[in-house]
Amino acid sequence: MQYRKDKGGSELSVLGYGCMRFTKKGSGIDMDKAEREIMAAYEAGVNYFDTAYVYSGSEAAIGEIFERNHIREKIKIATKLPQYLIGSRAAIDKYFNEELSRLRTDYVDYYLMHHMTDVAMWEKLKKIGILDWIAEKKRSGAIRNIGFSYHGNTDNFLKILSDYDWDICQIQYNYFDEFSQAGVDGLRAAAAKGVPVVIMEPLRGGKLVNMLPDAAKKVMRGSERGWSAAEWGLRWLYNQPEVTVVLSGMNSLEMVRENCRVADEARVGEFTESDFKTLAEVSAKIREKEKVGCTGCRYCMPCPKGVDIPGAFRCYNTMYIESKAAGRFQYAQTVGLTKEPAFASQCVGCGKCEQHCPQNIPIREKLKEADRALRPLPYKAGIQIARRFMFRKGRG
Ligand code: SF4
Ligand code: SF4
Repeated sequence: MQYRKDKGGSELSVLGYGCMRFTKKGSGIDMDKAEREIMAAYEAGVNYFDTAYVYSGSEAAIGEIFERNHIREKIKIATKLPQYLIGSRAAIDKYFNEELSRLRTDYVDYYLMHHMTDVAMWEKLKKIGILDWIAEKKRSGAIRNIGFSYHGNTDNFLKILSDYDWDICQIQYNYFDEFSQAGVDGLRAAAAKGVPVVIMEPLRGGKLVNMLPDAAKKVMRGSERGWSAAEWGLRWLYNQPEVTVVLSGMNSLEMVRENCRVADEARVGEFTESDFKTLAEVSAKIREKEKVGCTGCRYCMPCPKGVDIPGAFRCYNTMYIESKAAGRFQYAQTVGLTKEPAFASQCVGCGKCEQHCPQNIPIREKLKEADRALRPLPYKAGIQIARRFMFRKGRG
């Protein structure tokens, strides 16, 4: 196992254990199997374990496993505050104390504001006193490091990043999403600020393995490297010095062994021109299934009406690359549930964006098409209700 350092100099294994995909047994987690997998990863040197309040049964499961095996002091736990459920300082305490009790510990190594998509969410937390709360918990030692996990666009990521002296952040990032969400710009900005970056969805929830088109698999097979599809995705991340930990939601011993081997072998800067070319061709093969040939370059931005143009096209494409539901969920999450929504339907047709698009995309026409597909009536109503809940005043 290789290690990269956090802000305070502690060594974190480059492979982190994502604790949200344990195998189920009945209505709960298969504890014996989860314990075998966790302990195999621990024996191989994994010391970073990521969970969250809302990962059903996960905090309690790892708390029990760490206690039974007496390894709490030897590993780092990252868990998250469900900030979207919170409207008062008392609620922050309630969730945090419950998490400590589930995890059978009296401190959390990395405590993250979960699922931020907008700087407005951080502003709301500040209004209810999160800054004092964090200072107090850090003073008492109940929280060692503070951070946030992120799913919005690059602009909001940069705003949140620069607003506080974060110890860590967590972003979705992989070779196919290099320019989505926080993206490579977000990754590099965090690293430049000395904020370690934890990567989630390194293989797009397994899609860069299980749902690769045959043409993309053929491109990988044509390389002399002989790497598996998962290995390509992981090595692309380890190649970048700005990446600190790559999370993998491991739920088989075979997966633990393969991921640990790759984390052991991969090196920063090992990618050759030919390797980058291979992944560019793989991405191009996946993109052939897309509806709009948007590369996410953002030359068309900002839109005076606040439309997230590349965001809308990315979600529209996800409907065809993955599934309708995945694209619609992404759209609601990254475009619909920000304080200032960025729907394609906000376009007034000024045409400013089209003058800057190097791909000559008829943006106005495609935005209309995308919004119709991404937001059928039931979704429209659902997003409205969620927005009312998330942005109502004085939520407690
Ligand atoms: S045409 Fe629409 S999307 Fe493009 S800049 Fe104008 S309002 Fe924004
Ligand atoms: S300029 Fe064109 S290709 Fe670039 S993000 Fe905008 S729509 Fe996409």
